[in-house]
Amino acid sequence: MDYEHYFAKRIAELKSEGRYRVFADLERQRGRFPVALNYRDGKTYEVVVWCSNDYLGMGQHPDVIAAAHEALERCGAGAGGTRNISGTNHYHVMLEEELAAHNGKEAALLFTSGYVANQTTLSTLGATMPGLVVFSDELNHNSMIEGIRHGRSAKHVFRHNDPENLEQLLSAYPKETPKLVAFESVYSMDGDIAPLAELCDVAEAHNAMTFLDEVHAVGMYGAEGSGVAERDGVRDRITIIQGTLAKAVGVVGGYIAASNSCVDYVRSFGPGFIFSSSMPPAVAAAALASIRHLRAHPELRDRHQERAATCKHLLTARGIPVMPSVSHIVPVMVGNAALCKQASDLLLKDHGIYVQPINFPTVPVGTERLRITPTPLHDDAMMAHLVDSFCAVWDQLDLQKIHHPKAVKAAE
Ligand SMILES: *Cc1c(COP(=O)(O)O)cnc(C)c1O
Repeated sequence: MDYEHYFAKRIAELKSEGRYRVFADLERQRGRFPVALNYRDGKTYEVVVWCSNDYLGMGQHPDVIAAAHEALERCGAGAGGTRNISGTNHYHVMLEEELAAHNGKEAALLFTSGYVANQTTLSTLGATMPGLVVFSDELNHNSMIEGIRHGRSAKHVFRHNDPENLEQLLSAYPKETPKLVAFESVYSMDGDIAPLAELCDVAEAHNAMTFLDEVHAVGMYGAEGSGVAERDGVRDRITIIQGTLAKAVGVVGGYIAASNSCVDYVRSFGPGFIFSSSMPPAVAAAALASIRHLRAHPELRDRHQERAATCKHLLTARGIPVMPSVSHIVPVMVGNAALCKQASDLLLKDHGIYVQPINFPTVPVGTERLRITPTPLHDDAMMAHLVDSFCAVWDQLDLQKIHHPKAVKAAE
């Protein structure tokens, strides 16, 4: 086999389908978020980032940076091992205590990323609990799918956010069969939110455990910002709450929060936890400072929701097809991979606006979109510029608008 030829051929296919991924080369500017420098064609350009998952700008918060500095000076760069072999730093212990308290659970466990937290926890449960059957929402994140797959237990996929369909699937098993239902709270590509209480009702009726990915809700929902389960008052009905330290917390790392015995089980049997070196102390310290700040500042969450609502309103008023999101995510439908990439390129090069195109396999073919994430730091002037730029690009590429005089005429 000609290996080089094979690699090149597969990449050429991606390019011809218009879904070859090109990364924007950025240099974030501390204190200027959401402004960043974009390295392009040997030059740098200032851009406003409109697609960051640093949803609240915490990655540049002075308390977070100070905590990282302090831990770096005290402990040095790396943690020095896996958690079991010399790599448990006191910052990890403090952060796990904080995460447990923040989630209203007895214990928490850190992972190097949210991806690893999902993959390891779900695969460990599937592989080590005899007879476990897993029920998974059809739009679950790849990290959950991979975890469930690697667990090699029996599994069923239920229709997205559909407690009735879940009920049907669970009903096929006797009550004694061990079961786990896995879902997310905020689905980050459409911006919809799961009916957590209804899903818990169904799971409880069948004596099933629940696993909730709060990755796109951590820091942003609930009085203290632990997620939608807190907002909806269902945290004690969720067996395992999973989250990330890389999105609204603004650093990196992942976690689960659950009962003492459940967390101890994953700590003791989870390969992705056991065999990987722990996060640097400075990272844990930064995440700890960020979570403490987020718990104490609900006004950040109010401002965040206001910015997202304003952005949706302003775009919709000008005919830009914002998808029906009930969260802080502002997805705009394009519906074609090549056009989505072109729109993103024009926004970046002609308007200094960075919104990454979202193409297959992240979303289904034909639903390619631009996913905008306004933060509390995107001001009115930036938002006005965003809306004008979207309108200019929509006209230039002749993309479809809604409630637009022309579109209405055409429909009549
Ligand atoms: C980003 C993401 C993850 C992975 O979290 P990381 O900390 O970035 O590895 C897990 N679940 C969902 C739904 C995500 O969007």
